[in-house]
Amino acid sequence: MNVYMYLVDELLIDCGPSRLRKEIINFLSKESYTQIILTHHHEDHTGNAPIVPSSIPIYIHPKGVPLCRTRPHLPLYRRVFWGSRKPFETKGIEHQIKTKHHTFDLLHTPGHAPDHLALLEKDQGWLFTGDLYVMSHPKSIFAFESIPDVIQSLQKVLLYDFDTVFCSHAGILHNGRNRLEEKLDYLLSIQAQVLQKYNDGKPVSAIQKELFPDRHVLNYFSLFENSSKHIITSILNRGATHQ
Ligand SMILES: [Zn+2]
Repeated sequence: MNVYMYLVDELLIDCGPSRLRKEIINFLSKESYTQIILTHHHEDHTGNAPIVPSSIPIYIHPKGVPLCRTRPHLPLYRRVFWGSRKPFETKGIEHQIKTKHHTFDLLHTPGHAPDHLALLEKDQGWLFTGDLYVMSHPKSIFAFESIPDVIQSLQKVLLYDFDTVFCSHAGILHNGRNRLEEKLDYLLSIQAQVLQKYNDGKPVSAIQKELFPDRHVLNYFSLFENSSKHIITSILNRGATHQ
């Protein structure tokens, strides 16, 4: 999986995983950045934050502040993929961040992580989406993710005008708005199918077999922290809390 960080007008968006520290330090040594914003607290976005000079402020959604202050208990496969991450201090931010030439509205977009932010630059039609998109047709998700929350977050960002999406794993998407709409349509359809099958009396294991018959190598590597089952349970759990 690729990982992207963005530098716009001296604002660094995410810091990359500690596994790529050498390359990232090498890149940043030739660039100028005066502030950092983290789209969320996960180690592939924050792994190099602990080595940033203390004169440079690091911002994150307020829910991320305590998450960055503690050392995460990462499963082995995530430590191997991305490297671990030491605790570090951040400043909570919720509404807007400005640079010399741009204003970014911050959109709280939970679902992948509770502190997830997307950054909207209205004048340019840019949306920095962190891990909100990544792919349009996910067949499995992590145990900590919620499909109903991702649906709400996609609906929230799609209320705004933008064309270009800057994704942390898929890169720059010039038809980004369509890709986000495609993901929303897919998740709404999956949600409807899961609820229909559940109402027909089918157990989670049967729904999983019918909708997602194939397993992905990441499912096994992650010891099923990543699994299609979490798509189904996150939809059914939300249904239960709403009843
Ligand atoms: Zn993440």
